[in-house]
Amino acid sequence: MSAAVFDAVVIGAGAAGLFCAAQAGQRGLKVLLIDHSAQVAEKVRISGGGRCNFTNRWLDARAPQQHFVGANPAFARSALARFTPQDFIALVERHGIAYHEKHKGQLFCDRSAEDIIAMLLAECEAGAVTRWQPCAVKNMAFLPEPQREPVVECYRKMSFKAAAPRRASARAASRGGG
Ligand SMILES: Cc1cc2nc3c(=O)[nH]c(=O)nc-3n(C[C@H](O)[C@H](O)[C@H](O)COP(=O)(O)OP(=O)(O)OC[C@H]3O[C@@H](n4cnc5c(N)ncnc54)[C@H](O)[C@@H]3O)c2cc1C
Repeated sequence: MSAAVFDAVVIGAGAAGLFCAAQAGQRGLKVLLIDHSAQVAEKVRISGGGRCNFTNRWLDARAPQQHFVGANPAFARSALARFTPQDFIALVERHGIAYHEKHKGQLFCDRSAEDIIAMLLAECEAGAVTRWQPCAVKNMAFLPEPQREPVVECYRKMSFKAAAPRRASARAASRGGG
């Protein structure tokens, strides 16, 4: 069984996983993104009636927690304050995606939710993210001391190790994997 080494392993290539993997990759981490489905972002594909309501222009970036429904509204505060709807709109515009506002600040693609998926995949490409699909997690464990590195086994009959946390800027191009 071969073992590949990555700085970060993201499980699930939905909207969250694709975005997270792209961000980590673009910050210099060697990232593996896996999904047990052959397709990425199936929910995005059907979101917004196929046009993806990708953000809301009216979100108050100074108090984003007021838009978050949950037992702990403050949970999402930091993330929503640091990456605002305007940041996402700027990303959409950089990718040349045409969009329109429907009502109450809701923004939708003019053409298709596929444009958002293509954008997320392009962002992963820009971060040199490795994708394994279809691939499901079989087991997660820690190596014995002294390494204590997390090891994940998956159904592709391969295993991979997530390296111990380190500075993103200290990326070692020589690490094996893939
Ligand atoms: C009909 C519909 C319309 C929607 N419209 C909108 C909209 O217009 N705007 C909006 O913002 N939101 C919308 N949503 C909600 C939005 O789709 C979701 O909030 C968003 O897609 C969730 O993304 P996610 O990455 O968190 O989860 P998911 O999209 O569920 O991604 C999880 C991924 O993990 C993978 N996975 C799960 N288990 C494993 C495993 N063990 N191993 C490997 N991979 C695994 C799955 O295959 C999947 O790809 C809509 C949802 C639905 C159902």
